[in-house]
Amino acid sequence: MASSNKDFIEVIMGEYSAKTFSLKMLVAKEENKVIMAESDKDFIEVLFSFMLMPIASVVRNTRKWLRGDIGCLNNLYGSVENLKTDYFEDKMFQNMLLRPRSAADIHCQNLKLNLIGSGCFYVCENVNCRVISCYNIGNCQCGFELKNKLNISPHERLFPEEEDSFLKPTARFIITDEIKVMAVADMADLTVLTELEKYGKIEERVIRIGEIEVLKLLKRSLTSRTSLSDTFLKPTNNSREPLCMKYGPEGMNRSLNVKDFGIKIWSNIHIKLIFDKVNNVALYAVVKEDFVNFLCGILTIPLGYIFNRFPLLSFSGCLGNLHKSIQGTDISLFSCKKRKQILINPKLAPGLPYSSNLIAIEEANIASECSKLESSISKCRYNSSTPNRRKAYLKEPATFLVMDNLEVKPLSPISVKLLLDKMMVPLSDICEKEMILDGDKALRLLVASLASEHALTTTFLSKNEHLNCDCLDFLQLIWGGKRTGLKGC
Ligand SMILES: [Zn+2]
Repeated sequence: MASSNKDFIEVIMGEYSAKTFSLKMLVAKEENKVIMAESDKDFIEVLFSFMLMPIASVVRNTRKWLRGDIGCLNNLYGSVENLKTDYFEDKMFQNMLLRPRSAADIHCQNLKLNLIGSGCFYVCENVNCRVISCYNIGNCQCGFELKNKLNISPHERLFPEEEDSFLKPTARFIITDEIKVMAVADMADLTVLTELEKYGKIEERVIRIGEIEVLKLLKRSLTSRTSLSDTFLKPTNNSREPLCMKYGPEGMNRSLNVKDFGIKIWSNIHIKLIFDKVNNVALYAVVKEDFVNFLCGILTIPLGYIFNRFPLLSFSGCLGNLHKSIQGTDISLFSCKKRKQILINPKLAPGLPYSSNLIAIEEANIASECSKLESSISKCRYNSSTPNRRKAYLKEPATFLVMDNLEVKPLSPISVKLLLDKMMVPLSDICEKEMILDGDKALRLLVASLASEHALTTTFLSKNEHLNCDCLDFLQLIWGGKRTGLKGC
């Protein structure tokens, strides 16, 4: 069994944050693997809060500490960052997309490490509307402006103390390498022993970790199935999993009561896909601003929405296990029922100028979640204004080029020519086809942006549920500019 040994006590302190956690780990020495770690509720709450982070926050917070992409998301984020402000309807929209709010930030103020952030709230100018918004630009779903700031004193407690955390204070948990979380009480001792039997020499290590390590763990759990080992032990040379994703069927527990007061029409988006017909691989797409508006919207969606909608999603990461663990954790360990539900089914922060009706994600109703905030709505002064149509992120008309890896740039015929030369695909192999992004494809594109490095191919050309790995090896060759005579898929 494990033996404590002071020589192995490591201290990895986060340089930028005094907020550190103690993690007790069992390490299989020969296999260089963290078998499991044990921690208290403070650390587990921070892990659970990963589900509430908008996708843009995941990219922004992790990219400075760990190289490597998360699916196509780093390209998408970088493209929005690099797009000239002139393309946006409002110059504030770009910043809004790069730093979107989480609808759950009022619930995260007491986390020991708050990765979610916080901000002011705004009230709709329509006296009959109770919408509390996270943004003061753009319009409410009812069409009125969201200009009135909600006055709440910074030290005011929004929830009763016993409900103002996610978990009960005494709860303790075990975390496995593939980021499954279990309450200590739920683990039968025999199961643990059987698990440990598989390994040779086992030792116990206690480490202290801070914000940077937590963010590295977040990124590893989106790109590897041995997230603890990859984060806290010296990585073995080839830890990268082969890329392969399977959507699996959609979950049944989603809530789709989307109240859309604005655009009612189910508006499919048309794109022109240019692909290599021999290898069935997308080269790029020529799109209008509506498709890029949709892609921009991906950045605002909370990570947990994807795992809730696709519970059987399988890809090179393991973060779906964390979502399943939240669902599986007994309600008695949560401070209240509502907090568990917020983690399982995270919603969109209200007040975004554009939300695609192709992905039915509900906006959070902050007033109904927090009676303190709701009661202060009436204290705000109402100005009279007339309703306006909700804007979209980008000015129209505009034409863009979207690469298979979701890099987006304004269309230029010269860059297309250079691109095709670089790809070295014979012109006779290139095919052009109009494709339609409907509700089903929109969801696939959302998932593919996280779980695949070839989002367009995966969404529009992949015939099977999963993308063939050989095909991906072949894609690597193309994008590396080293095309050989290989016939991939
Ligand atoms: Zn309103």
